[in-house]
Amino acid sequence: MSFKPFSYQERYGLRLQRLALDGGFTCPNRDGTLGVGGCTFCDNRAFHPAYTQGKSILEQLDAGMAFHRRRGRQADGYLAYFQAFSNTYAPLDVLRSRYEEALSHPQVRGLVIGTRPDCVNAAKLDYLAALQRQGKIVEVEFGIESVYDATLQRVGRGHDFACTREAICETARRGLPVGGHLIIGLPGETREMILESAAILNELPISYLKIHQLQILKGTAMEAEYQAHPEAFLRLGADGYIDLLADFLDRLRDDIAIARIVSQVPPAFTDAPWGLLKQEELWKRLEKRWFLLPLQG
Ligand code: SF4
Repeated sequence: MSFKPFSYQERYGLRLQRLALDGGFTCPNRDGTLGVGGCTFCDNRAFHPAYTQGKSILEQLDAGMAFHRRRGRQADGYLAYFQAFSNTYAPLDVLRSRYEEALSHPQVRGLVIGTRPDCVNAAKLDYLAALQRQGKIVEVEFGIESVYDATLQRVGRGHDFACTREAICETARRGLPVGGHLIIGLPGETREMILESAAILNELPISYLKIHQLQILKGTAMEAEYQAHPEAFLRLGADGYIDLLADFLDRLRDDIAIARIVSQVPPAFTDAPWGLLKQEELWKRLEKRWFLLPLQG
């Protein structure tokens, strides 16, 4: 058994730090195009770093660099991580101006663009591929969340898995590295379904995955669903999650790097007892599970 932790040093020979940005985009699941309430699990406010608020893209980058320097993090360069909402959801000329503002910063080496699979098209992907040919690092991260249409429908995503598959294939076909977000524990999914999803993901040209446990955020539609139908959720504790994750990783292609195994939101957004565990603590538990099967409790 093995899995490959994600490393910029290994990929590009550089210590790169991602700087999460709010590029001023919205999402078709919020602006009324597909819906207004968003995916049932989503509260995007939980993922906005404080330094992004009320600032231009260049100001956010400077504030983000200062934030990381204060914590003693050394970097050879930075990647502008367009994280909030759906960061290809605008006409191409708008995307161009926001991405190129970020790339104009002398310490920014490239872009990481988080988006929905239904918010890319050939022209946008061709533009990103052209940026990469000019020597910029460009990665596209898609919200996969689940490989099952029934789950995607249940959480109100507004697209199906065929859409995800096509977006990933079209992006990778242009030579762009593709990342994916996956949530473990969405309602209606069993342990077996989650393990089987590894085989489905193995067929896609994904470079890395960010995996996280379902966090039920306060005030979301998911919280109401959980209160009404707790039996539809796996309700994994930290060790139960790590146990399932280890079995999932065991089925995943070895070359898919693992960039994240847990989601952490500020305490104000959740009552989850273990969702506040540090990323490092969960990695330690995963390593322990790897070598000392199985965990107790
Ligand atoms: S998870 Fe992404 S796609 Fe869904 S509502 Fe939130 S920002 Fe929009």
